[in-house]
Parts: sequence; C-alpha cells; structure tokens
Amino acid sequence: MRALALASLILVGCTTPTDLLADGGTLVGLKTEHFLPGALVAGSSITTEACTLSGGASATCYRLQLTGAPADHPVGPFCPRSITDGADAGGLWIEKGTAYELTGPFIANLATFYNDSAWQLFDATTGLVHVTDTQASCAAAARPNVDAQYNNYCVECLLSYVNGGQPSTVLIPVTPVPLSLAAEIGRMSIVGVALNGVNFDPPAPTDAILAAHTIAAFDDCGGHVNLAAGYHYHAATGCSASVPQSDGHAPLIGYALDGYAIHAMLNVDGAEPDDLDTCRGHTDAVRGFHYHVAGAGENQFIGCFHGQQGSAK
Ligand SMILES: [Zn+2]
Ligand SMILES: [Zn+2]
Repeated sequence: MRALALASLILVGCTTPTDLLADGGTLVGLKTEHFLPGALVAGSSITTEACTLSGGASATCYRLQLTGAPADHPVGPFCPRSITDGADAGGLWIEKGTAYELTGPFIANLATFYNDSAWQLFDATTGLVHVTDTQASCAAAARPNVDAQYNNYCVECLLSYVNGGQPSTVLIPVTPVPLSLAAEIGRMSIVGVALNGVNFDPPAPTDAILAAHTIAAFDDCGGHVNLAAGYHYHAATGCSASVPQSDGHAPLIGYALDGYAIHAMLNVDGAEPDDLDTCRGHTDAVRGFHYHVAGAGENQFIGCFHGQQGSAK
C-alpha cells in the first residue's frame, strides 16, 4: 500500500518524502561506483532487475555478485595459540559494548572476565590454547549448536575452507522505499554490504557461543568465517573501503539491504551524530536518510531497517 501511495505521489508531481531527497533533490540510494572492482565476482558487473521488496513493493533492484572475500585487507588472525601471545597473534572479542584485543592473557583470564570457573580454553600445563584448527572442527564448532567436544575452544575457520570466499548475490533497491514502521533486523539474512565484497551480518549468537564456553573469534577487521556464510563482518573497525565526505561527515562504508547508505560511527571530528533514531539513522540535506554503524563492541551495525529490504542468497 505504501508503495502505491508513493508512486501516485510521484506521478502527480507532488512532493517526494524528504528522506528520499538529498543534495537539492537528488534521490538517495546506492552508487555503484562506490564498490571496489575486486568486490565483485570476476566477470560480473552490477546490473538491475525487477524485484519484490520485504514489504511487498515492486521495485527495481541492483544485483551485486559479491566475492565474500575482502578486496582491501587480509583475513585473520583470529585465535592466539598460547596464553603468552600478544595482540598480533589474535583478533578481537566483543562483550557489552567493548571490543577487546584477543590476546593470550585475555584467553587466560576468561574465567575471571565472565566470573565463571568453567572457562578453560587452554592447557594448564603447556599454556597452549585449544583452537579449532581443522575444517572438521570448524564445522562442528562454528555454529549455534556447538558440538560438545568443542566446548572450551577458541573457534576459528579459515578462508581457505570456503575456497577463498563464499560469493553471495544481493538485491538492493535502486530507490529506497521507506517503511511506515521500522523493521527488525532478522537473523536469516544480511544487514548490508561493505564496499569490499563482504557482507555485514546480523548480530552473532553470542548467548549460544558463550553457553558452550567458546570464543568465536573475530579478526581485527571485525569479521570471521563459518562454512555457511563464509567471511562476514559483525563489527566495523575501519578496515574496509570508505568514501570520505567533503563536509567532514562520517565516511560512507556500505549500503544496507534497504538501499540506504551506511556510514562510519564517527564524524571526522570524532563526534557521533546526536540525532540518530532507533535504527541508528538520521536525515541531512546532503545525504538524505542514512545510517551510522554502532560501536565495534555492540554486536550490531544498525538498530533496525528504515526501508523495505531487498534480499541476499
Ligand atoms: Zn558470524
Ligand atoms: Zn549522518
């Protein structure tokens, strides 16, 4: 219904909702030139096709075939190997809004950190960390129902287990279609896409991960691998390609599945916009409606979808 109402508004030449307009009347939405060439599956290009959005709107969508491997930064490391290893040997762990360096001493301190003596991710004699260092152990542990034999493991999977990257095909509306009520971030699809070929995923299922006394380690770029989704991000730490804004606004780092731009958390002056809505979005005259990602420790990128979403597979 909303889509019909919008279409008729445009047809009769009346006003377009202000959150679709920016820069003196330019429609907001995905700019294909923002994607790194290496973000796309070799031989593919961004095309358009008819699509049906999550709210039922008929639309035109961009079709992106993303590599699933970051075009601009290495993947890993994830788990330190020894409780004496420093920050270079591991990635990140996130808890209650904070991203922690996943060092050997952090692993050694988990029982204290979580106030739970069942945490024991390392061999008390050798100090070596229990790591899922085979594809079979990754498959058994990098999932919400962790195989019991991998309780008390630092879980990591390598990009080589998914042939160097799991491609995905993503449909994103060319012109965003705002919802009258914001939509929850589901667990079954992606949140959006970075400009380097990697997807922004929904929150990691940390309750299940922690219940099994596992750490599903992220690398310093906030991503990790599982065999279903390949390499994907759960945090934006500033690694992936971005588009600077000439007015000092936070750089653009990707697009949400509803077609609205996703920007970094902080403006160039270090301040977070103070007028974000529950979706972590706001509207300005230059960019129209757009999101700002949450902090790297928050286990989310945006709070909800402002618009009808495309799809990913
Ligand atoms: Zn994940
Ligand atoms: Zn903004």
